[in-house]
Amino acid sequence: MREEIKEILLSEEQIKSRVKELGEEISRDFPEGDVLFIGVLKGSVMFISDLMRSMKVDVNMDFMAVSSYGLSSETSGVVRILKDLDFDIEYRDVIIVEDIIDTGTTLRYLYDYLKARNPRNLKICCLLDKPERRKVNINIDYKGFEIPDYFVVGYGLDYAEKFRYLPYIGILKEDVYKKDKS
Ligand code: 5GP
Repeated sequence: MREEIKEILLSEEQIKSRVKELGEEISRDFPEGDVLFIGVLKGSVMFISDLMRSMKVDVNMDFMAVSSYGLSSETSGVVRILKDLDFDIEYRDVIIVEDIIDTGTTLRYLYDYLKARNPRNLKICCLLDKPERRKVNINIDYKGFEIPDYFVVGYGLDYAEKFRYLPYIGILKEDVYKKDKS
């Protein structure tokens, strides 16, 4: 384990088996296939690729990139689209695949933005949920794990573009932030 990681919150095995279950559940809900996963860059990349491999029906993928900006490190509530979809989603079964939901601002914005394009179904699949931090109400259709309010990294999630490669979800030590702030 890397020294900046305080604790492994979710092991590689735990993630693997939960992602398999999620894929099976989504496959049961869409037996005719032709589902479009929309991954939110970059944090969801590992999750979306494992989720696709656990699907029992045909699925395609597209990606969006967004940024939330403001004066503080907290999500400001203003979300900017950096990369839009390649595909038309009208009348399609679409699932937004996100790494983590915190305040809910990003997913709320994405959901409303995509809903306006008239998909047949629009669902949300999120690997991690920090319910204590929620500011915006949003329904998660497929959820991997509920976690406490820690800053986590690994399995695609970064801190300052680092730690994405870790195969597990770890809690970042607080002195890593403190060092960066001083
Ligand atoms: P929200 O809009 O729900 O407040 O924020 C969602 C985004 O914040 C996530 O897509 C992710 O980029 C970032 N985020 C929130 N909590 C964490 C965390 O614990 N670790 C990491 N690496 N990113 C987080």
